[in-house]
Amino acid sequence: MKTNIYVLCGGKSVEHDISLRSASAIINAIDREKYNVYPIYITNEGSWCNLGLLEGRINNPDELRRTSSSSIAFSIGEFLTKVLKDDEKNLVFPALHGPNGEDGTIQGLLELLDIPYVGNEVLSSALAMDKVMTKDLLSRHNIPQVKYVPINLHNWKENEEKSYETVEDQIGYPCYIKPSNGGSSVGISRAENREELIASFKDAFRYDCKIIIEKELAAREMQISVVGNNNPKASVPGEFIMERPFFDYNAKYIDGKLIPVIPARLEPEVSDKVRETAVKAFKILNCYGLARVDIFVTDENEIFVNEVNTMPGFTAVSMTPVLWGATDGTTYEELIEKLINLALERYNEKK
Ligand code: ADP
Ligand code: MG
Ligand code: MG
Repeated sequence: MKTNIYVLCGGKSVEHDISLRSASAIINAIDREKYNVYPIYITNEGSWCNLGLLEGRINNPDELRRTSSSSIAFSIGEFLTKVLKDDEKNLVFPALHGPNGEDGTIQGLLELLDIPYVGNEVLSSALAMDKVMTKDLLSRHNIPQVKYVPINLHNWKENEEKSYETVEDQIGYPCYIKPSNGGSSVGISRAENREELIASFKDAFRYDCKIIIEKELAAREMQISVVGNNNPKASVPGEFIMERPFFDYNAKYIDGKLIPVIPARLEPEVSDKVRETAVKAFKILNCYGLARVDIFVTDENEIFVNEVNTMPGFTAVSMTPVLWGATDGTTYEELIEKLINLALERYNEKK
């Protein structure tokens, strides 16, 4: 009997559209000889839509889109009673990025439903989505971090002036201001003076009630894919060459001007150290399945972990599949099959 794979896509997240692109590529790569594919679209408002058994391919990510008023929308509870086929083998591929998908919330639901699913579990997803928690935890394990300060909304509301002074005393300019939970550079800005700092705070607090301010590092950012459960392996590092001061949303998804360099231009010892550090961070955060670890490398070859993404972009041209192609020749289809098998292995191990 074929296993049913429910591919969750969209989601109540600023990375909704990116998820549709990842999901389309994933759906097209799943082996239909072995699996039935059921895309489940989650609207921006959080309604779930069952698109039914998909026989063909997705040619355009927009084909997955539905509205919450559509007749196929249902509540999350109905997913269990009406959609999942009780007497068959089921697996979920949460092709969701950002809050409400990559942050442990969906993973908690899937744990309760007792279904195997691809990727990280509740704790690692929640930890890695929160930049402050990630940095606090990695620092405790002596993984090098750029200087940072967290600021909560209530502290800021209580005394705005004091918040800005803290940043100026402890971090200085230029600095990066980010919502603690987020991705795709949404809500992130760079400030060179008090005026820009104030505007950046206001913007970042629109997305989260906790923000993080970091010292600017003059460095290149390496991306390393780590895949596995108990014996995770790191891919070769990759990097993008860019013209902008930082990877903002436009640079990542709109301009199309990022040029990937794979493997990244690093001396072999530095590359090895970066790969080792990526695996260490993966283990410290309790990751399973996959993650993309982003690491800054300065001209002096100092390394600083920037962040860990527990469901990284998964289009055919995203770093994760391309890195594995360059590392050991794994194809996109093989990588998807591997992630499915890792999900089953982990599920059976926990039973
Ligand atoms: P996201 O989760 O949204 O990708 P990141 O923390 O990776 O957030 O920040 C987005 C981009 O901003 C990075 O890819 C990098 O180009 C730039 N950036 C972030 N923090 C720093 C920093 N401390 N120094 C220099 N550049 C940074
Ligand atoms: Mg991120
Ligand atoms: Mg990033």
